[in-house]
Amino acid sequence: MSENPSEVVATLRNSFNSGKTRPLEFRIKQLLNLLKLYEENEDAIVEALWTDLKKCKGEALLMEIQFLINDLKTVLMNLYRWAKPEHVEKDLANLLDKAYIQREPYGVVLVIGAWNYPFQLTFGPVHGAIAAGNCVVIKPSEISPATAKLIAKLVPKYLDGDCYKVFNGGIPETTELLKERFDYIFYTGNTNVGKIIHQAANKYLTPVTLELGGKSPCYIDNSVNYLTATKRILWGKLANAGQTCVAPDYILCTKEVQQEIIEAAKIIVPQFYANPKESSEYGRIVTDRHFERLQGLLKSGKIALGGEYDAEEKYIAPTILTDVKETDDVMKEEIFGPILPIYNVNTVQDAINFINKREKPLALYIFSNRKSVVDSIINNTSSGGICVNDTVMQLAIDTLPFGGVGASGMGGYHGKFSFDTFSHKKAVLEKNLDALGEKLGSAKYPPLTPGKINYL
Ligand code: NAD
Repeated sequence: MSENPSEVVATLRNSFNSGKTRPLEFRIKQLLNLLKLYEENEDAIVEALWTDLKKCKGEALLMEIQFLINDLKTVLMNLYRWAKPEHVEKDLANLLDKAYIQREPYGVVLVIGAWNYPFQLTFGPVHGAIAAGNCVVIKPSEISPATAKLIAKLVPKYLDGDCYKVFNGGIPETTELLKERFDYIFYTGNTNVGKIIHQAANKYLTPVTLELGGKSPCYIDNSVNYLTATKRILWGKLANAGQTCVAPDYILCTKEVQQEIIEAAKIIVPQFYANPKESSEYGRIVTDRHFERLQGLLKSGKIALGGEYDAEEKYIAPTILTDVKETDDVMKEEIFGPILPIYNVNTVQDAINFINKREKPLALYIFSNRKSVVDSIINNTSSGGICVNDTVMQLAIDTLPFGGVGASGMGGYHGKFSFDTFSHKKAVLEKNLDALGEKLGSAKYPPLTPGKINYL
């Protein structure tokens, strides 16, 4: 049974108010403990991810554990520098004074994770929240229960129990939790729930980061090496059985390019998985409900590759669909599974028009060797991020912010962006009371003659 949300938040608020999380040494100790948590529990984490998603060990290590370890090491190496006051330019009137941005923690923050990368997406934001000096309520997704249970077991063993607490539960429990007053909410999940979170946050004007989803398009033209391009597209599409927020959702290309992609996919899929159903490298759909939705999407268009499924195992083969219509569900809702529809367009301008008629995507992919095509899409569309000639890799560079825009979310994180997300940037002006300083600043006093106004 979940703890009482009011008690959880009250404990954390007392701790925050005591100033316990303010010293950088305390934060660094907690972050080092988190590093130990990842390193000492690799087997248990891999097992939980297998139980929830049949995520293979390689993917679990690469995309969840190692990803977090790398992010955490960046934070640990840079935290002292990031937390320093940031001095800013000044005008003549403040020449002798100090003006700087002081990063301060918000207070008690809530991090709500999603099930598809349930370890990475729950702990990733927590790095920034701890580094910035906040107390944190960690709410894993109930859709990945083995991982949620493991997180609840491990966190109290490694992190300070008065400052960081795991709160497990489904929709009713989360609804109760959201009635509490938080100083920041960081949510990862779907756009509809994102709106619920935004509404709940509004009650106390709590700032939010919303890491949401949507349909991420992938444009491909005839200037590419089809085998390489298709390999990179299918890698991004099939990892975690397509349950990746930045997976290429659908392809936009001409009929001629479509044929090349299908031929390339027939070579590449067996290279990835000799038999996807038997391969331990290929994942499963998270729940029966999600499986049934995806099974329904297979009815759109024509199957050019794959199309097999097994409800018992929640298995869906790597699938390519052609001849889909704009009005088909597969072209309307985020797919979030191993189904890749190809929608035909004749020109890059058609592709841009198609993208701009829809909600702003989280990711946008372009495969082309033509600079004019790449520039034209970058400059005439809006998306959380863009990756040219690859997929998913934009989020592996922690010097780039990761986040959406419009319906795909607001705010961003990774690396320093996580620290900044969880820090209020307080403007500080420290003036001195010296005679010279007083003279430099005296133009503000009445009477405000034209000469003084020009000086100011
Ligand atoms: P989910 O079902 O795990 O939900 C996410 C979180 O929201 C969970 O912790 C859940 O308990 C909570 N939640 C669900 N319904 C709620 C409600 N009514 N009130 C309050 N809280 C509620 O995950 P999901 O939404 O199925 O995740 C898939 C979606 O998330 C996709 O759209 C995907 O693109 C998106 N996503 C985005 C990112 C990103 O970083 N931008 C990452 C992963 C997933």
